[in-house]
Formats: sequence, C-alpha cells, structure tokens
Amino acid sequence: MSYQRGIKQESEQPKRSITICVAHDCPLPATFSSDNGKTHFCRAHDGTPATTWPITTERVRKVERAFNAALDLTNATVGDLPPESIVAKFVAMSPEFAPNGKMSARTYGAFVLGKLLERVRPQSSPAPDLSSLKPKDTWQHPKVDILV
Ligand SMILES: [Zn+2]
Repeated sequence: MSYQRGIKQESEQPKRSITICVAHDCPLPATFSSDNGKTHFCRAHDGTPATTWPITTERVRKVERAFNAALDLTNATVGDLPPESIVAKFVAMSPEFAPNGKMSARTYGAFVLGKLLERVRPQSSPAPDLSSLKPKDTWQHPKVDILV
C-alpha cells in the first residue's frame, strides 16, 4: 500500500480525474458539493463565507503536502498502521501531531486532518499560528498524475 498519490499500488486501479475545490485557487480535492453537484468544495472551504476563501487558500497552500499525506492516510487499507516515517514527519512539523496511543493509519490521518483544518479554517480564532509549521518543502510529494 502506498501513501503517496500517483504511485501505483498493488492492484492496477483505473485512473480517474478528481474534482478540485472551486474556492479561490484552492489545490485540495473537493469532498463536498452544493448546487446539485455543480459546485465542489474541499474540507477547508466547505461552509465558509466566500470573503474568507483567499486567506483559507493561503493557509492551505502552506500545508498542502501535509494535507495530501493526511488525506492519503484516511484512505489506507483498514487495519494498516501509519508508516513510522510519515508519523515522524508530522511530529517534526508539530508535536501536536503525535499519535494518541496506537492509531490505525485511517484514524491517524483523520486525527491529523482535523488538526490541520483547525489551523486553516476561517473560524479559527485567534488567527492560526502557521509559523510553527515547517514549510511544505519538507514534504517530498511527487508532482504526478493523481490516482484516486
Ligand atoms: Zn478548498
């Protein structure tokens, strides 16, 4: 099982296009739709006022690779544990990403995703401190076609 998008996994999976969030150049995959499926939003922008989209996108871009790694973990095989190298990267990014005991890859991905969302969504108050997070360049995420 691979946790990097674009890397072939054990089984050949058909390549599908994904829908990207419509909010202000957001790079994240859309997970929610409105307007009978015409408008799609990611978890960070869903349900937020359009006036907050640019700042949310700016925050998302600072942690984009971490977001994608967490999303990949949430899609891991049931029962898999998160790879130690990935957990170490998250913990190096911020101690708050240390797992709460033994967590499956899926649970850990959701745990990290929740903490990332707390930092980027506009209702975060006071403004989230992204300076404690290391820049996205610490994440080696290949720029290749995305498999879903
Ligand atoms: Zn978005």
